[in-house]
Amino acid sequence: MATVICVTNQKGGVGKTTTAVNLGYFLAKSKYKVLLIDSGPQGNATSGLGIDKNSLNSSMTEALLGVVKFSDIIKETKYKNLDIAPTTPQLANTEVELTKMNKKFICLRDGISQVAQNYDYIIIDSPPSLSLLTVNGMIASDYLLLPVQTEFYALEGVAQLLESMKLVKKASNPKLKLLGVVATMYDKRTSLSSQVLAEIKKYFKDKVFDVTIPRNVRVAEAPSHGVPVGSYDKFSKGAKAYKELAREVIERTKK
Ligand code: ATP
Ligand code: MG
Repeated sequence: MATVICVTNQKGGVGKTTTAVNLGYFLAKSKYKVLLIDSGPQGNATSGLGIDKNSLNSSMTEALLGVVKFSDIIKETKYKNLDIAPTTPQLANTEVELTKMNKKFICLRDGISQVAQNYDYIIIDSPPSLSLLTVNGMIASDYLLLPVQTEFYALEGVAQLLESMKLVKKASNPKLKLLGVVATMYDKRTSLSSQVLAEIKKYFKDKVFDVTIPRNVRVAEAPSHGVPVGSYDKFSKGAKAYKELAREVIERTKK
């Protein structure tokens, strides 16, 4: 049965999609069967893996609304062992539709339960909000993985996020745990980055992954080519860091 990891932080632009795509890529490289679920209405994980959103007959919208089976939207990517449940910008409107449904909190969990036996890891990329889609992700997951950008206000909103996690845990998903916090866009030349990293470590202690993801232009370039950085430039600092993150994630999720 798959281990389900929700990559989340309601703060925008902190590296959620980059982390979800590259973690998925390197877990798949390590021979695990991986499904990446794109639950961000911008569909950045979908395009980041080179999938043309206009070519899709169905996507997360139809799966969440129960129009098609969850398994019907899953596509293989060009990478071995890595599949994706893609999304289109329509997902933003789907969220409004979802509020009218009885199963509005658990439709993602229901969908995942139909395919979980086919995968070792399922990674969910979340939108930058504590919205219904994010709550669906939390309810469907074993773990949360929190990317935190090493910038001013890094920990802004984190208390609220942890409160949401607590509520979800209490109300509907007692097994939910924080897998870890990964510091992203770390720039070792600036003292700000190291100050913020120290602050993150003070707050989250041993939950912080040993590896930090450096600010690296290759990481930023890769999505415009529709590929993970590990495929775009496997010798880049960013690729090496994400490979190491995947190793730590495997270590922390060993059953
Ligand atoms: P959103 O909240 O909008 O969904 P996000 O949290 O998913 O954003 P990303 O889209 O992963 O964040 O990253 C935001 C931007 O920063 C993107 O342009 C991405 O390419 C860039 N970026 C992410 N990580 C790095 C990095 N390590 N080095 C350089 N650029 C990065
Ligand atoms: Mg994103």
